Amino acid sequence: PRFNSFGDSHYGEDESSRNARKVADHYSARSNQTLEEREASPIIHLKKLNNWIKSVLIQLYARAGDAVLDLACGKGGDLIKWDKARIGYYVGIDIAEGSIKDCRTRYNGDADLQQRRKKFSFPARLICADCYDARLDQYLYDDAPFDICSCQFALHYSWSNEARARQALANISALLRPGGTFIGTMPDANVIIKRLREAEGLEFGNSVYWVSFDEDYSDKKFPSSRPFGIKYKFHLEDAVDCPEWIVPFHVFKALAEEYDLELVMTKNFHEFVNEYLGKPEFTELMRRLGALGDGRHDHSTLSKDEWDVAYLYLAYVLRREDNHLQN
Ligand code: SAM
Repeated sequence: PRFNSFGDSHYGEDESSRNARKVADHYSARSNQTLEEREASPIIHLKKLNNWIKSVLIQLYARAGDAVLDLACGKGGDLIKWDKARIGYYVGIDIAEGSIKDCRTRYNGDADLQQRRKKFSFPARLICADCYDARLDQYLYDDAPFDICSCQFALHYSWSNEARARQALANISALLRPGGTFIGTMPDANVIIKRLREAEGLEFGNSVYWVSFDEDYSDKKFPSSRPFGIKYKFHLEDAVDCPEWIVPFHVFKALAEEYDLELVMTKNFHEFVNEYLGKPEFTELMRRLGALGDGRHDHSTLSKDEWDVAYLYLAYVLRREDNHLQN
């Protein structure tokens, strides 16, 4: 039985739950921007690029009528993308109360502003919870199984220790139907460690971001020595400023396999752009979003520093296998 090893996974006020709180408070405190503020952001093109990547993933893997589980859904920035994919049902979960509140407003339409946007065509359930702390299948008994689970820019928050990383993957596996798809984006540990090794000290960055480690991992045999709990501070102008954890990719892949989740593809964002930008339907989407000009070296759109940040991330796709031996 797949959950037997989690009997001891309660945390009280230990370091990992304090860290989860820090992350939640950070995201909860981020207020909604007006359209003008958003357009003035120093990383506006990066935000658009990220949206393009998420849209491409959704268009590649979602089918009309799908039931979708959006783990760490944030303020619901992907609701419209899912609507375009004509999904049938949506459950969004996030640890940050403020974000879930904004997500609810976005889904329902803002009555005060007499917002007139078309209602979303799918029913949704929005929940405030820690996705990596305990079993979620009991809450979602009537909603599961899901055809797709999405975890955008968030799985790395589970990598603070082994129990949380396992709980994240156990939840995803338990809630997906066999044959279902798990899509996501997260920092690319290989690139972050490479940058750390090239750096003078324990910090690196550019005009829009910095990464800072407390401990020197640059000369250690990494990451075989520490598969979980390698913390760094990530600051991205106008977006993120909180503790994050390295997700060594081979550890992610091997652990996911333990929960019947098989890797289908992974691509660094640079490679992702190179691969999908040339496809007509996605070129057109990029043009509409306005992240890149004619080519990615057109600095009138995405700046070099923003393009450097994109290199810190990867996209992944896994498939839930039907492993009847374990059931
Ligand atoms: N997925 C959204 C998107 O792509 O716009 C939000 C991404 S934001 C970078 C990371 C999100 O992860 C935040 O909304 C944060 O509250 C959420 N998060 C972090 N730790 C979490 C946890 N333990 N359980 C649920 N959500 C979590």
